[in-house]
Amino acid sequence: MARIDLNHIRHAYSANPKSDADYALKEVHHAWQDGGAYALLGPSGCGKTTLLNIISGLLRPSHGEILFNGVDVTQLSAEERNIAQVFQFPVVYDTMTVYDNLAFPLRNRGVPAPEIDRRVRETIEMIDLVDWTKRKARGLTADQKQKISLGRGLVRNDVNAILFDEPLTVIDPHLKWVLRSQLKKLHKRYGFTMVYVTHDQTEALTFADKVVVMYEGEIVQIGTPAELFERPRHTFVGYFIGSPGMNVLPVTLDGNRAHMGSHSIKLPDGLVVREGARTELGVRPEHVSLGREGIPIEVSKVEDIGRHRIVRARLEGQDIAVVVPEDGEVPADPKIVFQAGRINLYADSWRVEPRHGGA
Ligand code: ADP
Ligand code: MG
Repeated sequence: MARIDLNHIRHAYSANPKSDADYALKEVHHAWQDGGAYALLGPSGCGKTTLLNIISGLLRPSHGEILFNGVDVTQLSAEERNIAQVFQFPVVYDTMTVYDNLAFPLRNRGVPAPEIDRRVRETIEMIDLVDWTKRKARGLTADQKQKISLGRGLVRNDVNAILFDEPLTVIDPHLKWVLRSQLKKLHKRYGFTMVYVTHDQTEALTFADKVVVMYEGEIVQIGTPAELFERPRHTFVGYFIGSPGMNVLPVTLDGNRAHMGSHSIKLPDGLVVREGARTELGVRPEHVSLGREGIPIEVSKVEDIGRHRIVRARLEGQDIAVVVPEDGEVPADPKIVFQAGRINLYADSWRVEPRHGGA
């Protein structure tokens, strides 16, 4: 297994990039710890596959270097980096049996036959294709082929890292859950460094110890699921993670008070904002209390989703969502209070961190 350092990586697909907009990856600079389980989360087109292919060696970055355990591998091929990669769409040999598809990468590396047999059978069981062991891959369904692909990524145990690029897209939801649990178990057992790309927050949050959130070619935050929820570093993280996402409300500042139309809210002490910055409050729907005191809102809809209700409302011309516990009431003329210590302030979309130990 390996620690992976990404040093000032930038990548443009065009030959003569001029501005930031020409870069699919703007600047990625950080380290993936040895043995970590990472999820790379972000919307389609934000650069996830580009970053993954740079780590595996399928793509050379325009700038920067990649180190494995401190050794520069930037110029090495995928093969030489000894990384297993599972792609979004199945990569299988149609004319080979399921068994041979899995045995192939091991035979290639000269693994002794009895060990090949043991590992292939173990993997086939894990991906739930025991009954298809002797069948040719041709004629299997798309999700069975994707399971073979997944198996090919997992069958070797001598790799530096395993990279998964949205590997479960074509697989049905229940099986998705089963396979994800299997991956987690494998990770615990063998301690592979795993990077799992997805655009689905549930998948990311259930798989990883650390979630890496990407947005428009940049990593905007790396954190535990709890950190991403409690202290989103960027408004994008706030509304991409959580269901519904964080409320983001434009405000003007006056000392430590934030004004929204005729209403104002006291902010925690120690927040310093650059002159002229665009300022917003970010408050999770779970951290807004509904009652008879506070700022009045106009309710447009109440959604009952079982465990709780989501109140959709308008506040000074802005949409706002409030989560009300199952047994909570929605008064006729509801007012809201933002829970103390749960208010994030954003300047030009980035969270303003308190200067001296504030909330
Ligand atoms: P994601 O995997 O997050 O959906 P990608 O890494 O595939 O995003 O793409 C990032 C950006 O780079 C997108 O704007 C995409 O159109 C562009 N891009 C990806 N692959 C290529 C390519 N081979 N040639 C040119 N542009 C590409
Ligand atoms: Mg992709």
